[in-house]
Amino acid sequence: MLESHADLVAHLREEGRLVQDRVRDAYLAVDRKHFVDTSTPRGFIYVDSPMPIGNEQTISAPHMHAACLDLLADQLHPGAAALDVGSGSGYLTAVMGRLVSPGGHVIGVEKWPDLAERSVNSIRASQPELLAGEAPTVTIKAGDALGGILEDSDAQYDAIHVGAAAASMPEKLVKKLAPGGRMIIPVGGQHDFQTLQCVDKTLDGQIREQPLMFVRYVPLVESK
Ligand code: SAH
Repeated sequence: MLESHADLVAHLREEGRLVQDRVRDAYLAVDRKHFVDTSTPRGFIYVDSPMPIGNEQTISAPHMHAACLDLLADQLHPGAAALDVGSGSGYLTAVMGRLVSPGGHVIGVEKWPDLAERSVNSIRASQPELLAGEAPTVTIKAGDALGGILEDSDAQYDAIHVGAAAASMPEKLVKKLAPGGRMIIPVGGQHDFQTLQCVDKTLDGQIREQPLMFVRYVPLVESK
């Protein structure tokens, strides 16, 4: 039985996840209890599975958060710019915020305004320093990540995590990768398993895609 966040982190480590100590420490600092729905029974908070967070959405399973953090660990260095598309509960956004500190920045984009607001409250409860100051480490934007919300700037990102499944590879997001950057994104049909894809942009701008594993995510809603 996983009864505390520390138990969960120990379990993930036993499974060979959260490989780098700095990633383990960042994950350990962000307790899952602040990010699951308040109605979640105590015995379920640290179970390694997705949990409902409202609006028919889920906080991803801890092992998927851990897998994506391990894959993005080198890009999530202090000072890095990162993007969390479909940031939902805000859990991964907060861990990413710790990893890019000091000096870095993470933007979480969540389609549902009430989930976006809830995630800000969760981050404030767990990691208030990530939201503090004139240039906070973490910013949550409510809106459609594929629908223009990211197009108001030419910013590019060292690390992009996409927490919902795209029907096909979104070129808009590939363009947002900085040279040397990496994106982890599930791609595939809504009613199937999808493939978690690793997209690397080389320093001279070439794109390399690598399929990693089959996964099951809620759909990334494409704007019409
Ligand atoms: N990593 C998050 C995953 C949440 S589920 C977590 O563990 O909490 C995926 C989220 O993507 C949902 O909250 C959903 O509302 C959001 N989403 C789906 N399509 C989107 C889009 N086009 N733009 C922004 N967010 C989107």
